[in-house]
Amino acid sequence: MKEVIFLLGGNLGDKAQNFKQTTELIAENIGEISGQSSIYATDAWGFESEDIFWNQVLIIQTQLDPIDVLNAAQHVEQLLGRVRSGEGYSSRTMDVDILFIDDMIINHERLIVPHPLLQERRFALIPLVEVRRNMKHPVLNSSMQELLDQCPDKLEVKKVK
Ligand code: ADP
Ligand code: MG
Repeated sequence: MKEVIFLLGGNLGDKAQNFKQTTELIAENIGEISGQSSIYATDAWGFESEDIFWNQVLIIQTQLDPIDVLNAAQHVEQLLGRVRSGEGYSSRTMDVDILFIDDMIINHERLIVPHPLLQERRFALIPLVEVRRNMKHPVLNSSMQELLDQCPDKLEVKKVK
C-alpha cells in the first residue's frame, strides 16, 4: 500500500461540484481517501484569468503503481471535461497533480515525484502544511512548514471551506 498526496486545482465551471465529483472518482478509481485539506482560493498563477483558482490536497491509500496513479488521475481529469489548450499554464475544470508518493523519488518522462514545482507555490504548500506540517521532502530535506517559510511566492491563498 502506498500513500499518494494529490493537489487538485480548478478554476472553471461549478467548482464545488467539480471538486466533489473528482474526490468521488479518485476514491472509486485510485484508492481510499485517508485525509484532505480545506479548499483554498488563489489568484491564477503565471497567467491572467478572471476565474479564481481553488486548490485542495487529498491523501489516498492505493495499491496502484505510480504510472497507473498518473494514468488514473489523467482519466479523472478527462471525465471532468478538461480541455488542454496547448503548452503552458491555462484554465481548466480540473488539474490532478501528484505531489508525493510515500518518500519515492521518480524521474520518468511522464512523471516526476515529488512534484518539481510544489516548493515554489504557496497554493500547494499552504494546504500541505494543514495536513502534513512536519513531513520531510525526500529531495529538499525540509519540512512542509520550512518550505512554506522559504517560499518566494507571495500570492494570497485564502481558505474557502
Ligand atoms: P500542469 O499540471 O503543469 O498544469 P498538465 O496537468 O497538463 O500541466 O501536466 C503536464 C504533464 O505533466 C502531464 O502530461 C504529466 O505526464 C506530467 N507530469 C510530470 N510529473 C507529474 C506529476 N507529479 N503529477 C502530474 N503530472 C505530472
Ligand atoms: Mg497537472
